[in-house]
Amino acid sequence: MMKYIIAIDEGTTSTRAVLYDLEGKRSVLQKSSQIKQIYPNPSYVEENANEIYAETLSSLVEMIESADSVSDIVGIGITNQRETIVAWDKATGKPLYNAIVWQCRRTAEYMKNLEAEYGSFIRNRTGLVMDAYFSASKIKWLMDNVDGLREKAERGEVCFGTIDSFLAFKLTGGKAFVTDVTNASRTMLLDINTLDYDDELLRIFGIPKKCLPRVIDCDERIGEFEYAGVKIPVCGMAGDQQAALIGQCCFAPGDSKITYGTGLFMLYNIGYKPIISQNGLITTVGYRIGGKTTYAFEGSVFNAGSSVQWLRDGLGLFRHSKDSEELALSVKDNGGVYLVPAFTGLGAPYWNSEARGMICGLTRATTKAHITRATLEAMAYSARDLSEVMSAESGTPLSIIKCDGGASANDFLMGFQAEILGVPIDRPTEKESTALGAAYLCAIGLKECDFKDIPSFRATEKIFKPTGDQKYERYYGEWKKAVKRCLYDE
Ligand code: ADP
Repeated sequence: MMKYIIAIDEGTTSTRAVLYDLEGKRSVLQKSSQIKQIYPNPSYVEENANEIYAETLSSLVEMIESADSVSDIVGIGITNQRETIVAWDKATGKPLYNAIVWQCRRTAEYMKNLEAEYGSFIRNRTGLVMDAYFSASKIKWLMDNVDGLREKAERGEVCFGTIDSFLAFKLTGGKAFVTDVTNASRTMLLDINTLDYDDELLRIFGIPKKCLPRVIDCDERIGEFEYAGVKIPVCGMAGDQQAALIGQCCFAPGDSKITYGTGLFMLYNIGYKPIISQNGLITTVGYRIGGKTTYAFEGSVFNAGSSVQWLRDGLGLFRHSKDSEELALSVKDNGGVYLVPAFTGLGAPYWNSEARGMICGLTRATTKAHITRATLEAMAYSARDLSEVMSAESGTPLSIIKCDGGASANDFLMGFQAEILGVPIDRPTEKESTALGAAYLCAIGLKECDFKDIPSFRATEKIFKPTGDQKYERYYGEWKKAVKRCLYDE
């Protein structure tokens, strides 16, 4: 008999199910389908919650059927796009409005107005920055704007939940109304210390507690999904970035993972105590396994792979993103060129929303190869900007970077990143860290393995080591000067 776990990875633009072979310790098959984004107005982003469930279900069923027998599937784990919120009817499970996606800016002004009175209270209580991105203001918007929703919610007939919660409810036939603690820590309703909903936060946003899911650990058993008369346990949930932290086995303080995708997402394990950042980093629950909570700092850079895309599509410098590597390596260095990809402003640690992109250091000897090299280097410098504040504020030096995401396939970039950070970069064989994290949580929760054995499951494809050459410090110094020039004096 084979033993498989299915990891559901419900992302922003696609949902997938991955079949993970527990004995072979590797994923063997996956199916993904697209999720349509709906833009009712330029700053609004919604998705159809019924479609999210239907597409997830069809991928899940395809994976179940690809096993020899349904009973080979020992469990289902879930990871998901975070902060996106769904309101559904407690009795029927029917969504009462489209899902409001994390990217949606409809509550930006509301959050801005809240800043003066509650900004520092909310930051200290939740570890989050004041932004429309998190779920609380989106729930408030639903209660204020959807006909009859407030009354229904006050009668306790509504469920408000993030996508993990919605999928768990649907898959268990309405039996489980839960959310995992990593997702809950992104709602802006959770006290980051006690891990309970906070009454003062509920009051500020006017949200009835009875409409919120019970907060559970990442490795808790949730219920069963019934298929062809077989009850498959649903167990293990975490938000996508946290699942990647787990999938990458960043289990010691100072361990970090960086995802090099459209944007760059860094999570830094800070141990068992939450630390509130003074530099606009987010403090988040990394995971809670076996009843023990580990926290993480989170920082993101809005434009990373997207700047390579810009060279490709905007400037037409090459045909495929991967061609950037060969072009960058055709010159011996960046020729003094620095590119700051502030296309949509700069995030942590600068928080300068009016800053715009800039290329500096141009001479008549500059070629497209230098510009390409500078663009790739910018990702590495941005990661150093984040890691500097993360290690200073946590008091724990950076130990290792585990990398993933599309641009982590670029050897030049990974080698350069190791030089700029001065620590090794470890690239795994298994590229889908997010789904892997959900599979691990499921296996731990079902006692198919011990948490302490998980690191032995992870295989490294390649390690990039720093040489310690001092010239990289000089390069980083030049980058900081370039960023200074591009900051907008607000
Ligand atoms: P996301 O999940 O955020 O959509 P992916 O992880 O699929 O993104 O990564 C895609 C991004 O990575 C694109 O912006 C692309 O330009 C960039 N990218 C992909 N391959 C490479 C490469 N070899 N070198 C540099 N950038 C790359």
